[in-house]
Amino acid sequence: MIPEIDVRGCIAKKMTEGALNFEFEADDSLLDIPFVKFAGPVRAELFYRILDDLSVEIGGSLRFRLEGECSRCLSETSSEIVSEAEGLFERGKGDGETYGYANGKVDLTEFLRDRVMFGLPPRLLCEACEQWENE
Ligand SMILES: [Zn+2]
Repeated sequence: MIPEIDVRGCIAKKMTEGALNFEFEADDSLLDIPFVKFAGPVRAELFYRILDDLSVEIGGSLRFRLEGECSRCLSETSSEIVSEAEGLFERGKGDGETYGYANGKVDLTEFLRDRVMFGLPPRLLCEACEQWENE
């Protein structure tokens, strides 16, 4: 489950910072590496900070595992990916660089989807092929 950040609630309780640790299922349609899929959920370790103008800063990381065929030799392999997750949510509409939020609540769904996509490698390589490529 992807939690929401209840900005109004946080302000009312004067809690302008917090941490969010949760897991969510990533959509396999995000992947365009042939014969590769997500092995289990994405683990998110995020923190947030509500700024004076009520925009919300998010930082942290997303961790997930990909498994499937090595893009080079086709043997079964898997790889752990860690993706930085930084973003800014503004009240109302985002400007393309930032995200927007409405009704005092930050919905992280689109942000997480973008951050997972950003962290995806162009292909999956097994250890042997990785070494071979780096020589
Ligand atoms: Zn390989």
